[in-house]
Order: sequence, then structure tokens, then C-alpha cells
Amino acid sequence: MQQSILEISYLIGSITFIVGLKMMGNAKTARKGNLIGAAGMTIAILGTIFLNEGKVSGLIYGLIFGAIALGTIIGWLTAKKVQMTKMPELVSMFNGMGGACAALISLIEFNHYVHTEFPKLAFLGMMTGEFHPPHGFLLAIFAGLVIGSISFSGSVIAYLKLNGTMNKPLRLPAYNIINLIVLLATLGFLALMVYYGGVKLDRPTMMPNGSMVYILLALALLYGVLFTVPIGGADMPVVISLLNSFTGLAAAFGGFLYDNKVMLTGGILVGSAGTLLTVVMCKAMNRSLGSVIFGAFGGGSAAAGNAAEVTGSIKDIQVSDLAVMMNYSKKVVIVPGYGLAVAQAQHIIHELELLLEERGVEVKYAIHPVAGRMPGHMNVLLAESNVSYDKLVEMEDINPEFEQTDVVLVVGANDVVNPAAKTDPSSPIYGMPILEVDKAKNIIVNKRSMSAGYAGIDNLLFYDPKCSMFFGDAKKALTELVAELKTM
Ligand code: NDP
Repeated sequence: MQQSILEISYLIGSITFIVGLKMMGNAKTARKGNLIGAAGMTIAILGTIFLNEGKVSGLIYGLIFGAIALGTIIGWLTAKKVQMTKMPELVSMFNGMGGACAALISLIEFNHYVHTEFPKLAFLGMMTGEFHPPHGFLLAIFAGLVIGSISFSGSVIAYLKLNGTMNKPLRLPAYNIINLIVLLATLGFLALMVYYGGVKLDRPTMMPNGSMVYILLALALLYGVLFTVPIGGADMPVVISLLNSFTGLAAAFGGFLYDNKVMLTGGILVGSAGTLLTVVMCKAMNRSLGSVIFGAFGGGSAAAGNAAEVTGSIKDIQVSDLAVMMNYSKKVVIVPGYGLAVAQAQHIIHELELLLEERGVEVKYAIHPVAGRMPGHMNVLLAESNVSYDKLVEMEDINPEFEQTDVVLVVGANDVVNPAAKTDPSSPIYGMPILEVDKAKNIIVNKRSMSAGYAGIDNLLFYDPKCSMFFGDAKKALTELVAELKTM
């Protein structure tokens, strides 16, 4: 009976994960989806603690709830305090913790096997002359250990890169070959461990020795570091999403080990969602996963070196002229980018939108799928300042509207509006779909200088005769613009 209730709690958990994930696909239902998934997880955890058949002492309950309380407090405080631009860092740290948990589960289960199951099997083997280590069980243990450890050490490096502690990609000579050798060594050792039962028998005492598992652990941790260290800091969001899918896979192996359906479902969902997100991000940037992992893009100069040289002159616009232009427009499209997030200008841009609408101007926001530094970055940022969701228009839908737009205001965006993606085959971003703002009647670009964006390349748009630069920090410049508009 108890077991059946436990299975039902796992079924409820699994269903809530699927429903929650589906709801997270839409900004309006995302928050509710997150809460539903969390509620399902709570049911599954409580079921596991209280409905298990084994006897659990008061001390163990104390340890379990102590650990849960500690984790909840740390998680809650960090998530509450984190700034939107630091979100990828937080995700990488949380992901690393997931990987570490999966690896620890494998280590604990392996030690249990060494001390209880293996001696029995070895004894039977001596009696009958046949010895069969449980290959499937060992594969689940070692695969969980390897993938979880890679995810853990890779996520720690990603975290250090994103917070600026490790700000240069470190590339050993022939690093791709070294990495391949370490990966093959790890996989080869894993195969051997599965085949031979993972232990050495100490012949005189016939005692099993399970210390070889630590060599496998060390190899996997080393590979996680070597895999992440050469990748440029700016490519980290893609790598984190890939490591996220590794963690999901490691958790799914844990589900196999314990025959735990909710762990298996959760792991598979995280694994597949992470993989899909990685593919979508690469596609939106028109890059292959191979070039993210093995290439040098995002490391700075290498990408910049390929772009064609840009010549021509730029013109800038004063705040008073810009205010007049916007005030007498019929339609304005705002293009938010990474700089908007850095400047924390989401509230002032919403104020500008409301002010223009009061004057009868139609205002929309054009959302590029990889604007900012994480998927959905602009949606989350603008939601923070209560911009209505129906004002956010996806790239494919807004592109045909630019021709009828009087003013397009680009705020802290650069690569996502760079026409080189369409016109310059030598450009590293060639082929990336962009917001076609060059079709608008007037283009205004707000940024602090002529510095490049993430891809490290010049932007042809700034030299377009229809384009004027409105220099300054986004928050400061937009505050001045709003003040000027209010005087009109
Ligand atoms: P970019 O990184 O191309 O450009 C941002 C621009 O913002 C810079 O040129 C900078 O110019 C300007 N800026 C910085 N700070 C401020 C500020 N305080 N006020 C005003 N402007 C500022 O951003 P985009 O959003 O256009 O493009 C995103 C890029 O990130 C793409 O190349 C994408 O491929 C990449 N990427 C996106 C991911 C995602 O998931 N969203 C993941 C990984 C990469 P200046 O210094 O002159 O002010």
C-alpha cells in the first residue's frame, strides 16, 4: 500500500514536470508553470522521505531536513539577490550542484556495491566457477559518475569565466587533441570498469578494492575542466545549456539505479530541454555546436579578424532633435539589446513607451531570439518593468513591419541588427537572421561608443545614411529623452 502511494506521488511529480515545462514556454504562464513543477518536486521528495519501506532513524531525518533547510535558504537568498545580467552565472552554479549530486549518488552506490553485493557475487563465483558483475547496473553507476563530474567541473569553470575570475580562454597547444585523448581515456576506463566489475580483488584476503573508481572520477573532472577552459567567456551561455543537458542525463542514470520514475522523468526532461535549447541557440546565431566547442569565436580577436573593413562616416543626433522626431512619428519600434540590460534601462524605456503612446504614437518592441546574453533575456528584462507581453514582437513577425516604421530606436543592441549578417560572406555572423531595421525610415542607435558587441565586429548599420547615433549610457540617455519629451 505504502509503495503504491509512493509510486502515485512519483507519477504526480512526473506529470507536474511536463505540465510545468509546457507552461514555461509562454511568458504569461511561465511563473505558474515553475510553481507547479516545484510543487510536484516537493510531493516526490516528501513521498521518498516518508513512504519508503526501509527504517529511518531520527538522526537521519534530522540530517535530511537540515540539508534541505540549508539548501533552501542558500538557494532562496541567491536567487532573490541575483541581477538579471548575472543569471547565466547562477544557472551554471546551480547546474554544477546538480552534476555534483549525480556524481556523489554514483560514488555512494558504488561503495555500497563494493561492500555488500560484490563479496556475495565473488563468493558465488568461487563456488560455481562463474562470475558475472551486473554490467547494466555498473554502467548506470559509472555513466552517472562521469557525466555528473564533467558537468560539475565544467560548470565551475563556466561560473568563474562569467564572473570575470577567469577572463581569458586558456588554450594549450593542440588543445583539441589533448581533450580528445582525455575523453577517450575516460570512456575506455569506464568500459573496462563496467566489464571487470569495477573492483580489484586483493588475492591473499579476497577483499574487494574499489579505489579505481576515484581514478575514473579524477579523469572525468579533468575532462570537464579541459572541455570548458578553451571556450570564450561570451560563448558560455551555450556551453551552460549543454552542461545542463549533461546533468539531466546524469540524473536520469540515477533514476535507473534506484528504479525511481520521477528521477528518470526529471532527468530526461532536463537532458532533452538542455539539448534543444543548445540547438536553438546555435541555430539563432547561425553557428554549429562544433564551432562553439572547438572554435575560437567569442574569444575576441579571432572573430573580429575575419570581418570586412568598414569605411564611411557616422552622424549623431541631439536629444532635442530626437524628441521632436519621435513625438511626430506614427510608429516607433524599440530594439532592446544587451546594453539595455547592462544599463538597467528597462524602467525608463517603459516610461518612454507610455509617454509616446499618450501622444498617439504606436510603439512595439522587436525581440531577437539571442539578444542579450541568455535565452529570453529581453522578455524577462521588459517583464520586470511591466511592459505588456503583446507589445513584444518576435523577429519573424516584426521584420515585415520595419518598412512602415517611422523611427526604429536601437538601445544597446549591436550584432542582432548588423546587416553584415546578410551582406558580407566574410563576416563571422554571416547567415545569422537579424532584425532588418535598415528598412525603417529613420534609425536611431543608442550606445556609449563605437565599440563592437559580442561578435567583436564593426556594424555597417551605423554608417547607413538613415542612421543617427544617440551616444550615451542607455539609462542616462533615455532619461534625458523622456525629460525632453515631457517639455513638448
Ligand atoms: P551585443 O553584445 O552585440 O551589443 C551590445 C552593445 O551594447 C555593445 O555594442 C555596447 O556598445 C552596448 N552597450 C553596453 N553597455 C551599454 C550601456 N550601458 N548603454 C548603452 N549601450 C551599451 O548585443 P546584442 O543584444 O545585439 O546581441 C547579443 C549577442 O550575444 C549576439 O551576438 C548573440 O549571438 C550573443 N549571445 C547571445 C546569447 C543569448 O542567449 N541571448 C547567448 C550567447 C551569445 P558600447 O560599449 O559602445 O556601449
